[in-house]
Amino acid sequence: MSDEVNSEAVFAAPLPLLPLKDTVVFPRMVVPVLVGRPASLAAVEEALASGQPILLCAQVDPEVELPGKEDLHEVGVAANILQTLRMNDGTIKVVVEGLASGRLQRVHQRDAFLEATARAVESKPLSRKRNEALVRATVGLFEEYARLSQRVAPEIVMSLRNVTDGKVMADLVCAYLSIRFEERQELLNTVATGERLEKIIAILMRENEMFGLENEVRERVREQMERSQREYYLHEQLKAIRRELGDREDAPDEFTELREMIQGARMPKEVQERALRELDRYERMPSMSPEGAVIRTYIEWLIDMPWQKRTRDKIELDRAKEVLDNDHYGLAKVKERIIEFLAVRKLSKHSKGPILCFVGPPGVGKTSLGQSIARAMGRKFIRFSLGGIRDEAEIRGHRRTYVGALPGRVLQNIRKVGVKNPVFMLDEVDKMGADFRGDPASALLEVLDPEQNSRFADHYLEVDFDLHEVFFITTANNEFSIPPALLDRMETLHVPGYTSYEKERIARLFLIPKQMKECGLTGDHIRFAESAIYTLIERYTREAGVHELERRIAMTCRKVARKVVSKGLTRPIMVNEKRLPGLLGPFEYSQLRADEPKVGVSVGMAWTAAGGDILSIETSVMKGKGNLTLTGQLGDVMKESASAAYSYLRAHAEELKIPPNFHKTTDLHVHVPEGAIPKDGPSAGVPIAVSILSALTKTPPKILVALTGEITLRGRVLPVGGVKEKLLAAHRAGVRTVVLPKENEKDLVEIPKNVRSDFSFVFIEDVAQAFETAFDFA
Ligand code: ADP
Repeated sequence: MSDEVNSEAVFAAPLPLLPLKDTVVFPRMVVPVLVGRPASLAAVEEALASGQPILLCAQVDPEVELPGKEDLHEVGVAANILQTLRMNDGTIKVVVEGLASGRLQRVHQRDAFLEATARAVESKPLSRKRNEALVRATVGLFEEYARLSQRVAPEIVMSLRNVTDGKVMADLVCAYLSIRFEERQELLNTVATGERLEKIIAILMRENEMFGLENEVRERVREQMERSQREYYLHEQLKAIRRELGDREDAPDEFTELREMIQGARMPKEVQERALRELDRYERMPSMSPEGAVIRTYIEWLIDMPWQKRTRDKIELDRAKEVLDNDHYGLAKVKERIIEFLAVRKLSKHSKGPILCFVGPPGVGKTSLGQSIARAMGRKFIRFSLGGIRDEAEIRGHRRTYVGALPGRVLQNIRKVGVKNPVFMLDEVDKMGADFRGDPASALLEVLDPEQNSRFADHYLEVDFDLHEVFFITTANNEFSIPPALLDRMETLHVPGYTSYEKERIARLFLIPKQMKECGLTGDHIRFAESAIYTLIERYTREAGVHELERRIAMTCRKVARKVVSKGLTRPIMVNEKRLPGLLGPFEYSQLRADEPKVGVSVGMAWTAAGGDILSIETSVMKGKGNLTLTGQLGDVMKESASAAYSYLRAHAEELKIPPNFHKTTDLHVHVPEGAIPKDGPSAGVPIAVSILSALTKTPPKILVALTGEITLRGRVLPVGGVKEKLLAAHRAGVRTVVLPKENEKDLVEIPKNVRSDFSFVFIEDVAQAFETAFDFA
């Protein structure tokens, strides 16, 4: 390759022309070209014969077979033919060496080939500095290019380091650039050396950047592949280790196992398809990935749900009655209704009857009635409390997008009990709240409603679960706090609370035997005297139900058990009234006894969620200007009752022998001492009137009498609610005379006979009749 080419001489005579389809040859470049077209072969032959160079010109459009001047790029390169090689197909491979570039002038046909005249192109020499700067920049970038592309041999890079002339450098670098054909031609067209080197530099920079990016991507992909290969390898190793450790070779792997479990879970078709789809996804997850764990948990939920598992019902009414009676004392009305309910169930399997709701204070046996129903039907029993649930998701589940999402409590419990037809008790339906997290009551309605619950959609499970075989029972303390939409679907059965007598029976027949058994005690160890049971009921508990009573009995039994063990007693310990403080500590409650009649004090009766209570209402009179002060445990309604009573007394002061002008000369203070439970309601009107009258006339009531009744300004007495609870409370307090509104007479049928017969009742329509009962108006 000589540096000293005389371009003028090269282009002095016309040269045979070789059109190139898709290569651009640069001066100083040695390259093979394939020649096949007859005109081109003739041109090569002519050049060889005459010893002339040949002119290489790239075609504008490679498709043209017989190009004329207008089909050729203007700038081409004259080249020496170094070698030719005939190929089998008649073409020849010609190795050429570029000499100098020239601009095409004319093209004409000569014999079988084209001949062209061209003029040498010349560039002005570069300044020394510019030449050096461009050469250096080009070499630097080219070295990088060679390294990144790995397409240029290191020797070539080495040899380029010695080139100092910009023109030579440009030609050599062009030869090694792998760039598009058009770009190459453009470089050839750019005659001025400075401009050409700048273009080369730009191309090198661009290409280097591209290679950099490509390498980065390639590196990343490689890393990923390596990682998954590594995991695969580790998995295989793990399997091998397991085998070594003695797991059977053919032991099913996790996925096979899950698949078998899915197939064995007797799911509905669409659920099974869903489960298998999820399993597929799970298999494709990298093991130990958090998402994989989430999917696995989901699949396990699908497997564990009792899609078809159920217990067989055995509803026999006689047996059911026996079970209910064996488990519960009293409650005749409730038991009867339950038996009817079961009868209907037995006759019509798909009865869409109402849902039972047991309403009553805590500890009256609502839960245990539910358990008995389950036992009577041969079903499993499960319960959960809705108390305090405000979030719809507690019932219907969280969507799986949540981390740690779970199905709602309904399905959680169904899975726990393991059958699709349990007796399912939902406690405290009256204690649910609603807020921004949705309304649990409406979700609950979907659970309970037989029209909807055969396709209950839990947010987590996403597939429907059939709840219609579940026997739902609800409980509540207070009917009026149950959301109306729910109450509408329910039949309420009231369990109001027990009298001391009933409690004694329950303790004797159920609670004591149960607790003795729990502690491993028999009749040889412990006996309960009747007085002890009543003391437990009256001095250690104050409740409508028997929760606390049961707890106290349990405590007593434990203390006795300890004595039996530590002292090795031979005779049974008799638990009586006197022994109790030694075992349980001092009495918790003062005796619920109404005091002897006193001036200014009357006994009222109140209804509370924990049963009934009595309240003593006190009035004191002092000199003043006629103010009426009310203090203590009074609600707004009670305050109104007090004002009504006061006005009535003012209006009838004369007949009632009240000192005249009392409303100008005296202040009245009515006080209701604090009890544990706030009380409000209109029924205190009558006792307040009696208390004030007693205070104003300074006359104590002649007998101990408990009163209830709402009064109007004209003194008429209106009926009140909660008569049973009130009378039970009065009875416990030892009051034997009660004054009731006439219209409440009909409620007495609810009162146990033994309680009723202890009372003497006075039914009144006007408050004056209450005064007659309480005072002597001789
Ligand atoms: P609730 O669900 O109404 O709060 P529970 O059903 O838990 O009340 O009853 C508390 C305890 O009292 C249980 O041990 C239950 O067996 C017992 N009990 C309640 N009422 C009766 C009754 N009438 N006869 C026998 N035991 C009863």
